[in-house]
Amino acid sequence: MAISDTAAVPARTIPFFNYRAAFTANEREYLEMISGIIRRGAFIQQQELVDFERHLAEYLGVKHAIGVGNATDGLIMAFRAAGLGPGDEVIFPSHTMVASPASAAHTGATPVPVDMGPDHLIDPAAIEAAITPRTRAILPVHLNGRTCAMDPILEIAERHGLMILEDAAQALGSRYKGKYAGTFGVASAISFYPAKILGCFGDGGAVITDDDEIARKVRLLRDHGRNEEGEVECWGLNSRLDNLQAAVLDFQFADYDATIVARRRALAARYDAALRDLTELVLPAAPGADPDHHDVFQNYEIEADRRDDLRAFLKDRGVGTLIQWGGKAVHQFKGLGYGDVSLPRTERFFERCLMLPMNMMVTDEDADYVAATVREFYGR
Ligand SMILES: *Cc1c(COP(=O)(O)O)cnc(C)c1O
Repeated sequence: MAISDTAAVPARTIPFFNYRAAFTANEREYLEMISGIIRRGAFIQQQELVDFERHLAEYLGVKHAIGVGNATDGLIMAFRAAGLGPGDEVIFPSHTMVASPASAAHTGATPVPVDMGPDHLIDPAAIEAAITPRTRAILPVHLNGRTCAMDPILEIAERHGLMILEDAAQALGSRYKGKYAGTFGVASAISFYPAKILGCFGDGGAVITDDDEIARKVRLLRDHGRNEEGEVECWGLNSRLDNLQAAVLDFQFADYDATIVARRRALAARYDAALRDLTELVLPAAPGADPDHHDVFQNYEIEADRRDDLRAFLKDRGVGTLIQWGGKAVHQFKGLGYGDVSLPRTERFFERCLMLPMNMMVTDEDADYVAATVREFYGR
């Protein structure tokens, strides 16, 4: 490809996410592990899955972590196991991936979108205002590795007799007042999609719960409704976490807090120090800024004045960024039928949001370059 006269060659190239590098970072270990499993023919519901599920449950301090095909299936199965169905309403933040409400819709329930608060997460006052006699559940979404401030949400759920199911797809290891995301409600789901904090080499997920009956049902649902004797107890799905993926995940999970979480928090602190004086931006809370929150920075999402120009400026200088979910909140997708719904804070946010590179492949020098390029754009 010819380089045009006007565009200079960027000093660095920092992709938003480098899928191949996640593998090449530990290529030899992965190949040994994978070939060992293949030689044993141990593909479905084998020892590696059992080990990973145990490690995940121990880490979160819960009774059950159940490997499933992906977090979307995990939420569908959790909702079904919790008894949600036609006629029920589920309140969710429209600032999320469509997978969150889709999971409720697939049980026959009606997902009801609400606005976000100043923290970009579901607004407790908006939850309260959306409650009707049909409301059965609240689906908080712990976005970008930050746990929702759960106290007011738990209080509302208690007062109205509602279930809480959590979308913790982006929040493994994140805590609010010392308690892990995904452990506040009756059940939750975590995603191991490749670009997630703990990512595998394909699709993967887990359902987390302390409820023995929900756990038993999800184990049935993920495997065609079959119990351990092979007896079919109900209509099920095929949504198991592949044994190869479980091994890949268990390998990365070994020292999760000290390696993955600590690194992401260090990068966030670096961006924060370099950018916090820019009045044109709204940054995520810095690590440690609020003692109630321990964030794991699945993403580093900022709000920016002249967002689209900033994005183009960064792209010309080799920096990949992302406007999440095609730049739309769930209620803004015409095909979903929320035509008359207006959620001003969420809509405004999607005009200004931008994600900077945040993953294990980003070096300190990369982060400094990204921050310096942002500063250059604003003439600072
Ligand atoms: C990634 C994601 C999901 C879906 O996870 P999958 O494992 O891809 O099904 C759901 N909710 C949120 C907030 C996500 O980021």
